[in-house]
Amino acid sequence: MMKIAILGLGIMGSGMAGQLLAAGFDVTVWNRSADKAVALAEVGARVAASPADAATGAAIVIAMLADDDVSRMIWTGQGGALAAMVSGAIAIESSTLTGDWVFDLAREAAARDVRFLEAPVTGSRDQAAQGTLRFLVGGDVDVINAARPAFDAMGGALVHLGPVGSAATVKLANNFLCGVQAASLAEAIALFEKHGLDIEQAMSILFDGAPASPMVKGVGRRMLDRDYAPHFLVPLMAKDLGYAAQALADAGIRSSIATAARQRFLDADAAGEGLRDIAAIVEPLRKA
Ligand code: NAP
Repeated sequence: MMKIAILGLGIMGSGMAGQLLAAGFDVTVWNRSADKAVALAEVGARVAASPADAATGAAIVIAMLADDDVSRMIWTGQGGALAAMVSGAIAIESSTLTGDWVFDLAREAAARDVRFLEAPVTGSRDQAAQGTLRFLVGGDVDVINAARPAFDAMGGALVHLGPVGSAATVKLANNFLCGVQAASLAEAIALFEKHGLDIEQAMSILFDGAPASPMVKGVGRRMLDRDYAPHFLVPLMAKDLGYAAQALADAGIRSSIATAARQRFLDADAAGEGLRDIAAIVEPLRKA
């Protein structure tokens, strides 16, 4: 069976690794905090001592890490994965990152004769655990086809958006819209509560009306229930909105919307909500 390494066993990477193991792949995992590998080791994963150790002998190496800085360190830093990969192996970067870094990483991979795909995802904790993520992919079709069995195990759909960098752009726009909705929703809920409205009745207007996106309905329910068990952590949405704001600025599009929404997530992080779900951004507004 194909050897696959997963680097990063957070909310998303642990679910993805579980799906690869369930599909019968020979899976090696690596995570900075070793405790997150224990459950996967119990169901057959080999636990590597470093990213390089994980990547040695792997046909495919998949990273699911926090941000550009972590991705750079894990792929190209000391003990990094890229230098340990064999010629012709496939590196897949699934974290939500900037197009600039993904493009640089693709170049570094090519210089080592490693094939490269960017493959950020839509879907969250539950979709990762159930193998129903949607992969947004930038790169060559023949590489996608070679990696298809791994994508099929982890996801319900794959969209090839073009060359490397295309998927980062679409993923950041996706999270830009999600982040803006979550931020405006938090403000609306705080407004309803400060007016003493029947909150369920007031929210039913949003849940049943034109604003009722899956984002508004899902995160809105968690805000009302004060259910902050993490699906997607507050600082990671702040990161994505920062990257989206930069992408807009780089394209010459004057926009303050991503920056304003990002501030809600930064405020929540500063207020101690950093280890909670994005729904917790409503808490500082409730207390204001
Ligand atoms: P997470 O649970 O916070 O996991 C982050 C991962 O990055 C963990 O493996 C963490 O290791 C690692 N990491 C962080 N800082 C590190 C450092 N300095 N050195 C080494 N490793 C480090 O986040 P997640 O929700 O799985 O998200 C992973 C990626 O997917 C992010 O780019 C996120 O934006 C994206 N994403 C998330 C969702 C979602 O709904 N959760 C959906 C789509 C995309 P430790 O365990 O040691 O901290």
